[in-house]
Amino acid sequence: MCGIVGYIGKREAYPIIIKGLKRLEYRGYDSAGIALLNGDLKIMKKKGKVSDLEGTISGENLHSTIGIGHTRWATHGEPNDVNAHPHASSDGKLAIIHNGIIENYQSLKTELEIKGHKFKSETDSEVVIHLIEEIKKNNNCSLEEAVRLSLQEVVGAYAICILSSDDDKQLIAARKGSPLVIGVGDGEFFIASDATPIIEYTNNVVYLDDYEIAVIKNGKLTLKSVEDVPKTPFVHTLEMELESIEKGGFEHFMLKEIHEQPKSIRDCLRGRLLPKDNHLFLNGMSQYMNKFLNTDRLIFIACGTSWHAALVAEYLFEDIARVSVEVEYASEFRYRNPVIRETDVVIPISQSGETADTLAAIDLAKSKGATIFGVCNVVGSSIARASHAGAYIHAGPEIGVASTKAFTGQVTVLAMMALILGLKKGTLSESRYRELLFELDTIPEKIQKILEDAEPIKRIAETFQFAKNFLYLGRGYNFPVALEGALKLKEISYIHAEGYPAAEMKHGPIALIDEDMPVVFIATKDATYEKIISNIQEVKARKGKVIAIVTEGDKDIHNMAEYTVEIPKTDDCFIPLLSVIPLQLLSYYVAIYRGCNVDQPRNLAKSVTVE
Ligand code: GLU
Repeated sequence: MCGIVGYIGKREAYPIIIKGLKRLEYRGYDSAGIALLNGDLKIMKKKGKVSDLEGTISGENLHSTIGIGHTRWATHGEPNDVNAHPHASSDGKLAIIHNGIIENYQSLKTELEIKGHKFKSETDSEVVIHLIEEIKKNNNCSLEEAVRLSLQEVVGAYAICILSSDDDKQLIAARKGSPLVIGVGDGEFFIASDATPIIEYTNNVVYLDDYEIAVIKNGKLTLKSVEDVPKTPFVHTLEMELESIEKGGFEHFMLKEIHEQPKSIRDCLRGRLLPKDNHLFLNGMSQYMNKFLNTDRLIFIACGTSWHAALVAEYLFEDIARVSVEVEYASEFRYRNPVIRETDVVIPISQSGETADTLAAIDLAKSKGATIFGVCNVVGSSIARASHAGAYIHAGPEIGVASTKAFTGQVTVLAMMALILGLKKGTLSESRYRELLFELDTIPEKIQKILEDAEPIKRIAETFQFAKNFLYLGRGYNFPVALEGALKLKEISYIHAEGYPAAEMKHGPIALIDEDMPVVFIATKDATYEKIISNIQEVKARKGKVIAIVTEGDKDIHNMAEYTVEIPKTDDCFIPLLSVIPLQLLSYYVAIYRGCNVDQPRNLAKSVTVE
């Protein structure tokens, strides 16, 4: 959460920073701000989107070749102009942008106030720049040293970027717990929360590690730790394409990403699945196969949509590989004093690879000696680096705040892992394995088929756009899909929705059903088909409006439900990959009919780097 951009070099900084902030706006859009140096330090900031900021500063002299910018997801202090970043020091010479939470900001603030510092905002972030100013003055040291000493006093998470009007050839950045990437160009440097603002200028990036400080001075980048140990920057080459972070003709990133799923799953399977050669291979998994074979339980940790993918994994691994599975919310797991054994394989799942709670849960599991196998989308992300091994989902950048292609990418990776383990353990016969490899290979084209006929889903969305509540019900592999469908609707259309195991409905939610309640059944022809038909009847008997996602050709449910949406047939274990698609589209179109901002839903932001 919060997007950070910095530039230092020969070009005009303003357009680079504004464009970068727009690319990072998925991370927060409560306010935006920018600081430029041209002799004096000029700070411009505004509540609202980056475009609101642009509107207020047109006509100003923006000439500068060094600057920083921020798009905020507020944690401390309401979203307004004053709380927007950048924040300045008392003397107005230093400016900071910050992503994260300074946990001890209150005590630091009180101490600084006693020393005469006056604060303008309610943010935790402003405290850091005053602290740096104070330490610099007291120690009569360089800015670099003052930043380093200050960070030793700060508790919490941060990615920060600082500039000073005393030196227009210097930019300082540091991180702990929040991501930061430095793009290395020809005599110029770009700093950003992720690589998307950087990619059109350079492929060469340095990922900052926790407790590292980057000093860019006179055209050179040096790294050191907060403990003052010099570090060697390691330059990675990015493989991201510029097109992958643009809307490509779609009205919203979310719709683009929904439609990208046949391709993103192909990309996920590429080089890993070759059914004709009976080949399925995940490099990271093969290196740690002994750990997988010798454990009697897998612990999945995740948040949000990734947690739903983890629930699918529970069905997959228990069904196919006969290993017991625990699925944990990272935020609960880390504070619960959980029992973790050295033999456990812990599998964190995160699109961004930066989810703060998931990272903390990894640290905990690692400290107990467990093996960490990360499933992430963003290459080089903190979770990827904190894991012993892992598998990327290769879905390409996901920018829509409501996750879509990351979910199907995660389920695809998890399905591959379960198949590999099942075969190795002998819980999956060779013939069944082979059959499943061929079936998995057909998933992208089956998704394509669903996407080609969105009309019935649009009609359902139009009909129910004014509904106050929705219930989503599924059983077996479709239970996590019900949860995911409900979450998608809540996220972008603000309609209250609940996902439930269909049979659990009788234990409470059935009381909600009346003629105004749309109930989405994910009722594909699978092991629980007959049972879910009974659940549909129970809803019908109470006049609920039944919308059913069914397997193509299903006549029975067609005759029962008010609305049906067909999806192609597949094996039970791959059904979530298909059944989630109409639910993504349904939430998208309901939100569109309701006039909601699909890519920037209220209160939300992507990449939850705060706890
Ligand atoms: N804590 C800072 C603020 O509220 C930054 C928030 C964030 O990184 O999301 O302004």
